[in-house]
Amino acid sequence: MKRSVKIAIIIFGLALAGFAQENSVSEADRSLKLMQTELLAFLTGKSPVMVDITNESSRVLKKGSLGKLSDRHSVLSRNITAGVLFKALDEIDLEPKRHRYETEKGKGTNVYATIPATTPTKEYVLLGAHYDSVKGSPGANDNASGTVLVYGVAAQLAKLKSRNRNFILVFFDQEEIGLVGSRAFAAKLKKDGMSLHSAHTVDQMGWDNDGDKAIEIELPTVALEKLYREEAEKLSITVHKTNVPSTDHTAFREIGFNAIGVTEEYKNRDTTPHYHKSSDTFETIDFDYLASTTRLVFNVMKRLAED
Ligand SMILES: [Zn+2]
Repeated sequence: MKRSVKIAIIIFGLALAGFAQENSVSEADRSLKLMQTELLAFLTGKSPVMVDITNESSRVLKKGSLGKLSDRHSVLSRNITAGVLFKALDEIDLEPKRHRYETEKGKGTNVYATIPATTPTKEYVLLGAHYDSVKGSPGANDNASGTVLVYGVAAQLAKLKSRNRNFILVFFDQEEIGLVGSRAFAAKLKKDGMSLHSAHTVDQMGWDNDGDKAIEIELPTVALEKLYREEAEKLSITVHKTNVPSTDHTAFREIGFNAIGVTEEYKNRDTTPHYHKSSDTFETIDFDYLASTTRLVFNVMKRLAED
């Protein structure tokens, strides 16, 4: 074979391999986006959910009712949401669990799942988002967006061939009435003596009106800030550091765990105008932005899995 022909064939082969790889990546991205969109539609009342209505002690009162969530605030609507999230985790082959708590501030249910390390270790990384909303708001941006981000990252983490750390994915209840669910969960981890590398929580990740894909990281440790900045740079994502303590990451930091909050860009006034309103609906979510940030958080988790 003539040398030039051979080279041409090799190049053609490489091009094909590249094409196949790119194609499979975008195929995976598409199905991830679809999964997140579908879950966000259930959480925000865009699509009806089929649920069993249960009482406080999980006894089924009415089987298979079809209904739409108008918010995730009442005991019943949070109960239904917990059921939706439980089912969603089950569908990606994780083993969801309910953490029921009762504190002076409130009574509720966190939903969580563990993705075990492939090499034995006691160390965990936590990724979480609150699933409740304020009364009368569908809470698409706050915080169905963070919830489906965590869900998308969980689905990808579970597929990694090797993980040098355990991961724990949590959907917190009752953030809106004062970090009740996340505080109860942090206290549980402390009581269990869990060795937690870091807690990452995501809140409001669906608005990017100026299209710059920027995010904010809230009160990171030096090491976590470095990690996020390194991974963001590879994706050309701008990162602003802020000192906002008002959401779930605080629950972990205040009892001594390393923690970081991840959120959309408040700086430059690029945050949702629908905050805590009835207009915080499915239609206002920027799914491309959500996909971009899902990728970033997954890449950060992947680094922590490889370390
Ligand atoms: Zn929130």
